Amino acid sequence: MPDGDMSFRLTILGTSSALPTSDRYPTAHVLNVHERLFLIDCGEGTQMQMRRYRIRFGRINHIFISHLHGDHFFGLYPLLSSFNLMGRKTPLHLYAPEPVEDLVSRHLSDFDINLGFELVIHALGSRECTLILNDKRVEVFCFPLRHRIPSYGFLFREKRAERNIIPEMIGKHSLSIAEIGHLKRGEDIVREGGEVVSCESVTIPPPEPVSYAFCSDTAWFPELSEYVRGVDLLYHEATFGDDNEDLAHKTGHSTARHAATVARDAGVKKLVIGHFSARYKTADILEEEARQVFSATEAAREGTSYIVG
Ligand SMILES: [Zn+2]
Ligand SMILES: [Zn+2]
Repeated sequence: MPDGDMSFRLTILGTSSALPTSDRYPTAHVLNVHERLFLIDCGEGTQMQMRRYRIRFGRINHIFISHLHGDHFFGLYPLLSSFNLMGRKTPLHLYAPEPVEDLVSRHLSDFDINLGFELVIHALGSRECTLILNDKRVEVFCFPLRHRIPSYGFLFREKRAERNIIPEMIGKHSLSIAEIGHLKRGEDIVREGGEVVSCESVTIPPPEPVSYAFCSDTAWFPELSEYVRGVDLLYHEATFGDDNEDLAHKTGHSTARHAATVARDAGVKKLVIGHFSARYKTADILEEEARQVFSATEAAREGTSYIVG
């Protein structure tokens, strides 16, 4: 598949806050970065939602948990069990705040589950923006939020891809594999005898790298916009509307207007809000209040996908 097409895509699996409703599931997102799938939060029912929206279990090698409240975590145990029953052998990386390791190991022993794959736990504890995963295509950072217990946001930054060779130029210049490698990395070729094949003339630049930030449960605080500055897509919780701003303060949550303020101050391209309180039958009022501050806002719905970029 060529770089850049549909290759950085977010799918929303759950949009409810702690109390699910008949049509809203707790938080879970799947980010597809060039067919690597990253699961972000894992509320109750996540694996059923994954089946409903045809998320391939075998493509998930990294799970990120923002904090250890049940509506972001209760789906993890059954998912681990299913991975095991499906005969998984590939290591699974789990990024979550302490004491995740104790919780998971106790659960596995209480329920007599012997994982047939390696579970690599990366405990989050830093109070600064920290690089937690760095692979060929993407960098992932975590940053601290402000909630009743330690809670983290995640920032996914696509790496710049190599330049693309214009296919007909391969034959025209009789390019060797080694020469193609240099050209894709942006280097000109100088052949014996002085012939120059310039990178500009035989390649096209890759698409601009894109980025996605996930802001889970948090009260509003001004520095938050620095962590997510300029991202293409920002998800931010919006548990309450203006009518319950006091409750947002009391419970360490944001209103839709707070989420939109972060989006506006950070200069992001698009905002998606979620984690809606069950008291709102639809998210229409939350979407409307957010749009008064930041017009490029959309209320998340189960099963919706966004191409980032
Ligand atoms: Zn929550
Ligand atoms: Zn929470």
